[in-house]
Amino acid sequence: MHTARPPFLYVIALGSNRPHGHHGRPASVIAAARSYLSGPAVALLASSPIIASAPVGPSLRTYANSACLIRSCLMPPALLAGLKSIEREFGRRRGQRWGNRVLDLDIILWSGGRWQSRNLTIPHRLWRERDFVVSPVASLVPAWRDPLTGLTTRQLAFRHNRPIPVDPSSKRA
Ligand code: ATP
Ligand code: CA
Ligand code: CA
Repeated sequence: MHTARPPFLYVIALGSNRPHGHHGRPASVIAAARSYLSGPAVALLASSPIIASAPVGPSLRTYANSACLIRSCLMPPALLAGLKSIEREFGRRRGQRWGNRVLDLDIILWSGGRWQSRNLTIPHRLWRERDFVVSPVASLVPAWRDPLTGLTTRQLAFRHNRPIPVDPSSKRA
């Protein structure tokens, strides 16, 4: 499925919409979580700015989102296990999908191209539809290509930011 050799590069999306008892508001949670992305098995290479975005699904709280580029020799399932343990350290409990959460860490892209196993799909299957993921990722790795569409992350971001044309003859215009 992939021919890449370690070390691998990974793009991780970070999201938070609940304050943390110690770290504080969601943007501060994201800033704190970044420091967990460097350690013996992982090197943090770059981070996007932190953006605020509207809630998704049943949750009503505003999110803070960001993306990080990391380097690691870990294969995707091992990296996902590490990310889940960081989420737990931040107090994340298993619960409603898309509900309120202190920290969400998703693997968006990796240098190996595609990955598919029972609990893990790379590229993340919904990332192209989410401006709050596409924008930070494009600011981080503009020339990377999405293996599914062949588009660069910059092109995907442009698609999101293109103004929606208004039909002047429409009564609602
Ligand atoms: P979404 O996947 O729509 O962003 P979510 O992040 O709220 O929703 P979670 O409850 O955090 O969903 O994760 C559900 C499961 O998704 C995880 O346990 C994990 O096994 C699986 N998963 C599949 N692909 C990925 C990926 N690329 N990155 C992170 N988790 C993934
Ligand atoms: Ca997610
Ligand atoms: Ca997740």
